[in-house]
Parts: sequence; structure tokens; C-alpha cells
Amino acid sequence: MQELDLFVIGAGSGGVRCARIAAQNGARVGIAERRHWGGTCVNLGCVPKKLMVYAAETGRMIEDAPAFGWDVQRPETFDWYSFLAAKDREIERLNGIYISMLEKAGITLYTGDARLIDAHTIEIGPSVLAPDAPVQRVRAKKIVLATGSTPIRLDIPGAELAITSDELFHLPERPQRVAIIGSGYIGVEFAGILAGMGSQVDLFYRQTLPLRGFDGEVRAHLKELIDLYGITQHPGTSPVRLEDVGGGKAVRLVLDDGTAYEVDAVIMATGRRAAIDKLGLDSVGVVMEKGHVVAGIDGRTNIPSIYAIGDIRDEYNLTPTAIAEGHMLAEQLFNPQGRTWSFETLPKAVFFSSPIGVVGLSEEEAAQKHDLAIYTSTFTPMRQILPKRAGKVLMKLVVDRQSDIVLGAHMVGPDAPEIIQMLAIAVTAKLTKKQLDQTIALHPSTAEEFVTMRTPTRMVDKQ
Ligand code: NDP
Repeated sequence: MQELDLFVIGAGSGGVRCARIAAQNGARVGIAERRHWGGTCVNLGCVPKKLMVYAAETGRMIEDAPAFGWDVQRPETFDWYSFLAAKDREIERLNGIYISMLEKAGITLYTGDARLIDAHTIEIGPSVLAPDAPVQRVRAKKIVLATGSTPIRLDIPGAELAITSDELFHLPERPQRVAIIGSGYIGVEFAGILAGMGSQVDLFYRQTLPLRGFDGEVRAHLKELIDLYGITQHPGTSPVRLEDVGGGKAVRLVLDDGTAYEVDAVIMATGRRAAIDKLGLDSVGVVMEKGHVVAGIDGRTNIPSIYAIGDIRDEYNLTPTAIAEGHMLAEQLFNPQGRTWSFETLPKAVFFSSPIGVVGLSEEEAAQKHDLAIYTSTFTPMRQILPKRAGKVLMKLVVDRQSDIVLGAHMVGPDAPEIIQMLAIAVTAKLTKKQLDQTIALHPSTAEEFVTMRTPTRMVDKQ
């Protein structure tokens, strides 16, 4: 049986980084993947989603082009099939890059389903990607669980008639009438993507505003923009069942108030759960809570040789945080002087048609501990003037009145994720509003507004 220093189960963003940094620090490392090299982000998440966002955006750019003097007309239809083929080619290329990156680092790759036999032994057997894989056992001093998460379907009659984001990336045709349940990251992003590609989208959610957990003003602004993008919103609703119409021709979504909607596809975007099936966690006694592995930011579980990183431990559930957790764990184990990250001021983006970027605290979160000065600005970006495209940008700074430190920055509008990534440095460095004001504006840009907002819109006292 092969004896390793570290064995990583799951070759997604966190697992790959952990394996690579451990190997760079001289560890003998193995990694197992059962389905997709590169994991959710590369295969069923960030990468294909962002390519779809670009596809939807391109349609809108063609629409706007005549306003800038281009003699073009938007084609009647979006070629879903050729786009999907191009997307799959890109993902195949990335799969290859992941495999060669791991091999070059001297890591032993196992394709198959891995499960724990005991606190130091892993068994790898056949999986969807390797149905004929031989059963092998490996021993390792340390084991890292990095299997990520998988979409949740609501427990309602007919739930199997719905699809999730996993299936959406491979549908043979683009559904024309779509009902999306849930207004979190995935619901909002796919509403924008599918509407941009020409589908008729209805978005159902149980709150009064979409995107629970984000700043209230951002959520209210987003709600207006969702309307402007032609998406029909149904706030305050919950689905109770799905029914088949015409033997697979359509699906009927029935709500708690008795109303029903017939559509070509229902997408459940109702959260994700840890991917722990067949991992053998019970047999080893790894402590779980609400379906997730209990582990700290250092990855430690209750079993000294077993660690968990990324979505399986359900804390941040983002690709860059899984990468940082994987990197920090590898350094902690094999190079204790290594790199660390600050998780306090996490930048986040929602890639809606008018994207959202945020870093640090929302006004509601900040007001629990601080007296605040709030700076907001809404305006029509220059690019939208000639095509007369509606939809304003929202920019917002949440500032601690006492220290003048910028606690949070929020933006809804073109390039918000790009702009907020840079502003995240300032928020992480705890820069003050005065220091932002001392920065010369870059003109003409949208981002300059973050250094030109002079007068607070309002003061908010600590709650
Ligand atoms: P989210 O947790 O973001 O949103 C879940 C949605 O489902 C919410 O609107 C929630 O409503 C709703 N919901 C949950 N349970 C029910 C129920 N029983 N009945 C009705 N509605 C329900 O999950 P997503 O699936 O959108 O995304 C999963 C994770 O993937 C995110 O947490 C995020 O970390 C990650 N992700 C990140 C992206 C990015 O960084 N851009 C993109 C895509 C995914 P309510 O608010 O009322 O609870």
C-alpha cells in the first residue's frame, strides 16, 4: 500500500491548491477526483457561468451598437448549442491544465470515488469518470476532505421535475419559459443570463427583496434592475409542488397561494449542501452538524489526522476562500511560516446583468457596532447614455464616524466586481474615508465616484 504524507479527496479549487502547496513544500501527496478535475468552479460553477454572462452581455452590446454608429442588427436567436460546444471545449482545456499542473508538481492522481476506511486509510474505487477503476488503498499521515457541495432541491412533490444549476449547463436546448426558485447568488445570476439570451424568466422568492444577506439598499436597487431587465419577480412566494404537463412537454409550478405557472423548465436555486455521500465519515467518527463537516478556518476536524476545507465545512462557500483555506492548511502542515489571508473583509460578487460587488460590512451589519456616515451615489453610466439604456449605478460607502475607517463598499453596476476587487485592498488595509478622498480621480470612469463622494447622504447611529 502506498504511504503518503497527505491525501486530498476532491480536486476542486481548494483541494488542488492544498495538494500543490503541500507538494511544493516537499510532501508526498496524492489526490482523488471522482467526476471533474477542477471541481465545481471550473466545470459547473464560476467558469461556465461567467462564459454565459459574457454570452448574454454580447447580445445587449449588439443591441446598443447602432447607437454608437455600427450598422448591425441583433440576430433573432441565440445559438445555445454552438455556445455550449464552445464552453465545453474551454472546460476540457482547463481540465487538462489542472491535471498537468498536479502531475508536474509530482502529485499522484487517482481517478475514482474515495472513501475513508480509517483515520489514515483511503480506498479509491470506480466512479462516473472511471467506471473501470481498480480498487486501491492508500495510507496517509494527513487526509484533507475537499469534496465541495452539491445543489439542494426543495422537498416538495414533483421536485424531480426541476433542474438545478448542474443540469442547466448541459441542457440540449435553451428553455424559452423559465421559472427560477430562489433569489440567492445562483437564482439572480441565472435570471440575468437566461433573460439576456432571450428566455422569458419568472423569479420566485420568499423574501420581499432578492439576495438576502446583502446590504438593504443594494437589494432594493437590484430589485428595480431585475424589473428593468424584463424579468418578472414574484416576491413573498413559496412553491408547494411541481406537476408534469403533457408527459415532459412542460412543468407546472404551483405556489402556496394556489396560483400556477406553466413553464419549459423550473430551476431550483435553493442553496447547496456538503458533498459527503459515500465518504465514509460515519465509520471514522468525523463530527458533522446540519450535514456539514465541523472544522475551523485551520481545517481541523475532531479527528487529528483529518482536515476539511471549502464548501464541505459550510462557512464562506466561495472559490477564493476555498483556495485560501487549502493554501493555508498546506502551509500550516508543511511550512508553518507560510502565507495567511484576512477573511474579515471578503469581497463578493453576484454576476447579474448589472453586476454587484461588495466588500466588508453592509450598513445593517455595521450599524450593530458603529455610528456610521453613509455615502451613496446613483447615476447613469456614460456607456448607457447614447443607447438610452435604463438602469442606474449604485455606489455606497459605509464609514465608521469615529475612526473614519471605511467598513464596507458596495456597488451595483457595470464592472462592479472589477472595481470592488481593487477597493477591497483599501477596505482590508483599513483605510479611512479621508485617504480615499486624497486619491486623485481617474476620469472619465465609473470607479472615480468612490473617491469623489464628499458629503454623507445620512448619518446612522449605532442600533
Ligand atoms: P443561496 O444560499 O445564495 O440562496 C438560496 C436561495 O434559495 C435563497 O433565495 C433562499 O431564500 C431560497 N430558499 C432556500 N430554501 C428555501 C425554501 N425552503 N423555500 C423557498 N426558497 C428557499 O444559494 P444558491 O443556491 O444561490 O448558491 C449556493 C452557494 O453557491 C452560495 O451560497 C454561494 O456561496 C455560491 N455561489 C457563489 C457565486 C458567486 O460568488 N458569484 C455564484 C453562485 C454560487 P431565503 O433567502 O428566503 O432563505
